[in-house]
Amino acid sequence: MITDIEIPFLDLITPHVELEDELVDVFRHALRTAGFIGGPMVEKFEAAFAEFCDTRYAVAISSGTDALRFAIMTAGVQPGDVVLTVPNTFIATTEAISQARAIPEFVDVDEHTYNMSVVMLQRYLQKKCIRDKTGKLVSLRSGRPVTAVVPVHLYGKMADMDPILELADQYGLTVIEDACQAIGATYDSKRLSGTRRAGAIGTIAAFSFFPSKNLGGFGDGGMMTTGDDALAAKLRMLRVHGERERYKHQEIGWNSRLDALQAAVLRVKLPHLDAWAAGRIAHAERYDRLFAASGLVAKERVRIPTRAGNAGHVFNQYTIRVRERDALAEHLKARGIGYGIYYPIPLHLQECFKRLGHSPGDFPETERAAAEVLSLPVFPELASSQIEEVVQAIADFWA
Ligand SMILES: *Cc1c(COP(=O)(O)O)cnc(C)c1O
Repeated sequence: MITDIEIPFLDLITPHVELEDELVDVFRHALRTAGFIGGPMVEKFEAAFAEFCDTRYAVAISSGTDALRFAIMTAGVQPGDVVLTVPNTFIATTEAISQARAIPEFVDVDEHTYNMSVVMLQRYLQKKCIRDKTGKLVSLRSGRPVTAVVPVHLYGKMADMDPILELADQYGLTVIEDACQAIGATYDSKRLSGTRRAGAIGTIAAFSFFPSKNLGGFGDGGMMTTGDDALAAKLRMLRVHGERERYKHQEIGWNSRLDALQAAVLRVKLPHLDAWAAGRIAHAERYDRLFAASGLVAKERVRIPTRAGNAGHVFNQYTIRVRERDALAEHLKARGIGYGIYYPIPLHLQECFKRLGHSPGDFPETERAAAEVLSLPVFPELASSQIEEVVQAIADFWA
């Protein structure tokens, strides 16, 4: 048991204690009205969420993984199609592709942003695909049609969406955003002539309310956003047994609803999200300054997260890059400082994807990132003095 943690990686207690009265009222309301499934608690949260992201529709669902699976199933991807994504993400991204009976194929990430490399996406589309007789884009690797792309907004920074949208247009791909780590993140889009929040750019986007995300519930939960009427209606139908009206089942669906209690908890927390994100951003800036002042950046011992590009980062993770990552992690552990590694094993090398036939070296930037990334505490309630301690502890590692 870990008892002497001095600086935790996350604090999931303080924000809830601060909102305790409002949160307890949610439970009181539920128990007095028996409003457990669907109803106004879910509808009000969906409306607030759509307004927050500035999308026409938000459809609540039981988890981020289900949000991705439903997005892929409804966005025109047929069983056996190829869906492109990155190998540098949480397993759920590719799991959802497989669950939708599609085939994941990978595009490597950019070494600075850790998000999908536009250069590699273009190279894949130009060199690893052909047009068949009917003009359909087909993967040379699997011989299957390529119909969608899932950029992941990793760590809270949005992928470079303008060129991705342009390539998707050119090659007829549906864009599905994995926004699970990026609620509230922004992207300055020339194509769309303005700034958009995560979830308001692709045809559909998926969000997660896993407790460690920037907006976390009291358990699992997720959301899909879209601007398309027909897609929103289909998502609503599939999450509840394929029915538009009670006991009239158009399609075989699922039971994948978001609990009304979770929706109500999340609606209490949502108005605080921008302030919490501002806290995370301020911490990230303090880390940046302290790392620069420590000389570790100039000596290329620590690489800090890039701010380059046109994306507003909400720092679900503040992730540095260090060649001696594993030794530094041990050092931090000994000092009682929490950290995270996202993600230690690239998806193309996971046992469950053995059948895809990849080997080490296939996606070098992802593999290097997996060996070198280290996420530091950046939760909103972190104190400035704690950030100083973390940077000092890291500097001491080389001292
Ligand atoms: C958390 C996460 C998911 C899945 O969310 P769950 O709610 O845990 O199912 C998917 N993709 C990414 C990138 C995530 O970080």
